[in-house]
Amino acid sequence: MSSRILIVEDEVKLAHFIELELKYEGYEVTVANDGFSGIASARESNPDLIILDWMLPGISGPEICRRLRNTGSKVPIVMLTAKDEVSDRVTGLDAGADDYLVKPFSIEELLARIRAHLRRSVGEDTDILQFTDLRLNRSTREVYRGDRFIELTAKEFDLLEYLISHPRQVLTRDRILETVWGYDFMGDSNIIEVYIRYLRLKLEADGEKRLIQTVRGVGYVMRE
Ligand code: CA
Repeated sequence: MSSRILIVEDEVKLAHFIELELKYEGYEVTVANDGFSGIASARESNPDLIILDWMLPGISGPEICRRLRNTGSKVPIVMLTAKDEVSDRVTGLDAGADDYLVKPFSIEELLARIRAHLRRSVGEDTDILQFTDLRLNRSTREVYRGDRFIELTAKEFDLLEYLISHPRQVLTRDRILETVWGYDFMGDSNIIEVYIRYLRLKLEADGEKRLIQTVRGVGYVMRE
């Protein structure tokens, strides 16, 4: 059964973007665009995790958090904050939030936090992702090809994690850019080619078979 996630966010565009990404990952998603409907949804739909914006019309994020905790709710709460609210993050954590992300954040980062919190609440271990002889550990951020340890930069790791979590699925360049670099990434989209090249050099350093394939004019796929 898929996990149910409630998004409480008044920036409609951002809320919709997160909703689509989460649905794509197989989560059941409910969205509320203000504080009152947010807290009502949290009580009615009993979600497995809540993504909660800090500043909301009606009731603020930290206040929602406090009210839920006061009624005994232990649901994992990930707060979203704008940059200038960061100094207040202690307030959010004091109010009972489990985690917070500063906007703008990459969707991959949000997905990673969601997985971590859901895993913690159900206690299952899905840290290791494997594709043929390639192994990636999400919690230690280590990558092995057979017995060979592969050192990756943070971005290379994020890109590989995204590819390996969607094996044999063609991922478009736009999707990769959005997911790994963030929905508001303004740089050169050739960055994907550059990072794929780095990854291939490292993954194939001992002459191993290619695992990241180019789908011309579309994107990339993890396939033998
Ligand atoms: Ca807001």
